[in-house]
Amino acid sequence: LGRKLNAALSALNRAPVVDEKVLDATLKEVTSALLESDKVKAKVKAVLEGGGDKGKDVNKKNMLQKAVFDELVALVDPGVEPYKPKKGQPNIIMAVGLQGNGKTTTCTKLAVYYQKRGFKSAIVCADTFRAGAFDQTRQSATKAKVAYFGSYTETDPVSIAAQGVAKFKKERFDVIIVDTSGRHKQESELFEEMVQIGEAVRPNMTVLILDASIGQAAEAQSRAFKEAADFGAIIVTKMDGHAKGGGAISAVAATKTPIIFLGVGEHLHDLDRFSPQPFISKLLGLGDMQGLMEHMQDLATQNPDKQKEMAKKLEEGKLSIRDWREQISNVMNMGPISKIASMIPGLPQELLQGSDEEGSNRLKRMIYITDSMTASELDSDGGPFMEVGKDGKPTGLTWRVTRVAKGSGTTVREVEELLCQYRMMANMAKNAGGKNGWFQAMQKMQ
Ligand code: GDP
Ligand code: MG
Repeated sequence: LGRKLNAALSALNRAPVVDEKVLDATLKEVTSALLESDKVKAKVKAVLEGGGDKGKDVNKKNMLQKAVFDELVALVDPGVEPYKPKKGQPNIIMAVGLQGNGKTTTCTKLAVYYQKRGFKSAIVCADTFRAGAFDQTRQSATKAKVAYFGSYTETDPVSIAAQGVAKFKKERFDVIIVDTSGRHKQESELFEEMVQIGEAVRPNMTVLILDASIGQAAEAQSRAFKEAADFGAIIVTKMDGHAKGGGAISAVAATKTPIIFLGVGEHLHDLDRFSPQPFISKLLGLGDMQGLMEHMQDLATQNPDKQKEMAKKLEEGKLSIRDWREQISNVMNMGPISKIASMIPGLPQELLQGSDEEGSNRLKRMIYITDSMTASELDSDGGPFMEVGKDGKPTGLTWRVTRVAKGSGTTVREVEELLCQYRMMANMAKNAGGKNGWFQAMQKMQ
């Protein structure tokens, strides 16, 4: 199961744009991998046998998608409670993982996270392998205003770890985070070092730090670290990049260990609490329906009538260009586009490339384009822009496209792209609607 699933998910990870085609292909692969599990087989059989009506294929597809979705959610949720630091005692956290996976960065983020919640936090740098490791800790800990410990001269990581933890225990720190090197001349030596540091500091929780772009290697790597360092939690870093963290599912499945946080950027506060459903939604390119709905609920309190209307339209799968424009301007008002846009289903990944500024300029141009549309064009489903042949199939674009491009100071190509993106969004909304659609399914899940 693991290997097949991994292959499917890393293919998804590699896809530059997750459109319906990619999504369908992934679902096929994932389904076929999952079908090897008896539990899923039984579920799928029930779906296919249930309600034998013709013309219910769409429902079946949705039910099947839901079954796959549920199974993936179950896979990243091993049902194990991670350790929770307690006040009034030292809580020792040790970070392990290969070099470059984001340990040092994550240690600081964790310290900031706990410090913000009233735990006096400190970092111990037990990476003596890499010159400059202590400097990195010193700089980021200083920036984060958390205490740190390390040495420029001591070469034994075990001794530094023990010294640092003893010092911070004595000074009554609540959370003491031990950062390790993740590299050695020999792999076996690295694992031996993990064992020794573990014995020296006796961590309450060891965390495996994994890079989101890890694909097939996740299973073997996590097993090896589990054996040497018996970690009790996983943090997946660089979730803000193109990789969606599919490999992490295998790490969870192979080690029965929960993911607790996601690293979502290079800054101190870029650490999100992990939650299985949005993670799988994003992985499958479905957008974060839950996050989107939470956001819509926020807006609903500001403007109840309008949002009720929007939710109803979403439910019915009837979104006009005007509705989409509203979604875009909502996105623009909600903060950095890289954070928000991934919640909106159907918002193409190209939009998110480059800096936040570039992304927000792209969104602005989209708004300019819609500003040049007439009221009836905005209320349409894009029909007025389409030339249709006798058979009802689209044959090209109408003069309106050129008019809008001229009016908005953009190009025909950009207008065409916007219409195309709107279509994708509208189709997704359609799939989301209906009695057995995603939207309903997600709503029930809450
Ligand atoms: P270590 O070798 O495991 O200690 O890894 P570092 O913490 O030094 O991180 C390696 C690189 O990954 C650095 O350039 C970090 O800024 C970057 N990095 C770590 N976490 C994240 C993350 O969540 N998002 C992004 N974009 N970069 C990250
Ligand atoms: Mg490091």
